[in-house]
Amino acid sequence: MGGTCVIRGCVPKKLLVYASHIHHEIEDAAGFGWSIPQATFDWPTLIANKDKEIARLEAAYTANVEKSGARVLKTRAVFEDAHTVRLSTGETVRSKYVLIATGGTPSHGAAIPGIEHVISSNEAFHLPSLPRRILIQGGGYIALEFACIFAGFGSEVTVVYRGDNVLRGFDEDVRAHVRSEMEKQGIAILTGCTVTKIDKRGEEFTSHLSNGSSIASDQVMFAIGRHPNVGGLGLDKAGVAINPENGGIAVDGFSKTSAPNIYAVGDVTHRINLTPVAIREGHAFADTVFGGRETRVDHADIATAVFCQPEVGTVGLTESQARAQFDRVDIYKATFRPMKSTLSGRDTKMLMKLIVDGTSDRVVGCHIVGDGAAEMAQVLGIAVKMKATKADFDATMALHPTAAEELVTMRTPSARHVREAVG
Ligand SMILES: Cc1cc2nc3c(=O)[nH]c(=O)nc-3n(C[C@H](O)[C@H](O)[C@H](O)COP(=O)(O)OP(=O)(O)OC[C@H]3O[C@@H](n4cnc5c(N)ncnc54)[C@H](O)[C@@H]3O)c2cc1C
Repeated sequence: MGGTCVIRGCVPKKLLVYASHIHHEIEDAAGFGWSIPQATFDWPTLIANKDKEIARLEAAYTANVEKSGARVLKTRAVFEDAHTVRLSTGETVRSKYVLIATGGTPSHGAAIPGIEHVISSNEAFHLPSLPRRILIQGGGYIALEFACIFAGFGSEVTVVYRGDNVLRGFDEDVRAHVRSEMEKQGIAILTGCTVTKIDKRGEEFTSHLSNGSSIASDQVMFAIGRHPNVGGLGLDKAGVAINPENGGIAVDGFSKTSAPNIYAVGDVTHRINLTPVAIREGHAFADTVFGGRETRVDHADIATAVFCQPEVGTVGLTESQARAQFDRVDIYKATFRPMKSTLSGRDTKMLMKLIVDGTSDRVVGCHIVGDGAAEMAQVLGIAVKMKATKADFDATMALHPTAAEELVTMRTPSARHVREAVG
């Protein structure tokens, strides 16, 4: 109980991020006068403690659902028709409405030779020992988060990604900044290539790449995308259609499927695969169907983070999206050494970028890379949702000394883009 987020997603991931970040804190301590005896790290202890916390959370979720009066049937459910599901026990359950929230699973892509040796994020949470070397294929947030987690624990990490740079869909400056910060930590990032074959000899894997090179490692992990869990649900018997564009269940703005009594929310619809989005869609379903309040979920300006190191926090449009949408776009950008690094000596830079619609003065995008970026993005999300202008940001007094004060003190645009009138 708890689904991907609690059992094998956001929560255990963030616990591992905290754990690996401690390595950086220990390294940074010397400049502040601390001498710390050689620190050692024990992976099995971390995994056992993480599992204990997940078990506690699962028990709490189960208790809350049961307390609400719901009946929980711990089994698979498959549609017989639009109002009936058959359980693995053979029992059938009938209902006026059905909500599908079966989530998604990691996909490994094409069945290349040796694909059976590949692990996904699911298995990465339960490895019996810390890999000394790991190859991770993928350039999205899950791949980068795990790359930084393992690098923080001292593993030798290679990221292999088929595109030209990591974090496709993020602002170009964020992509370039994250890549260079990760490379500074010794993470090898190979772009423009893919893993084509994996050999196993003893405990060692050799991954052969499309660029002709090969890389030895102790684990090979793929994080190249996730598929909505639509298979084997009997959707055809219920008259529930698939969205041909993304492979998820097709839904309207109220999360209603092609069957009028069946709704679908979360990753199974493959819209924006984030926990708070799934929760909000579920809430809107409840409001619409049982609360007498028709509620659409607004999917615009959702703050999001990548918990790589340093982390990314972002909300709103990227520069290229804004330039495609608005005639005048002003960019405010600052790259600077965070105060903490002056004494720690860590070679790291922070990036802050605001994207402003030059006509309305509205701040339409905020992008941050650096410590605290995720927390900042959540709060900036309120300002962006309220349609705050750059003048509102400027009118806000800085809070000193913080990194975030940069967001309200950037006065001069670093670039101004004006679209030429056609004709
Ligand atoms: C490694 C990782 C890190 C992530 N980090 C973040 C993050 O930092 N922030 C964030 O917002 N999101 C994150 N996500 C995404 C987030 O976990 C998902 O968006 C969220 O869990 C989606 O919720 P859901 O309810 O749609 O599906 P899920 O949480 O996947 O739940 C689906 C449930 O349905 C069950 N099920 C499936 N088929 C059936 C069936 N036939 N019968 C009965 N039950 C069935 C499954 O067992 C599962 O329990 C992460 C995901 C991963 C994999």
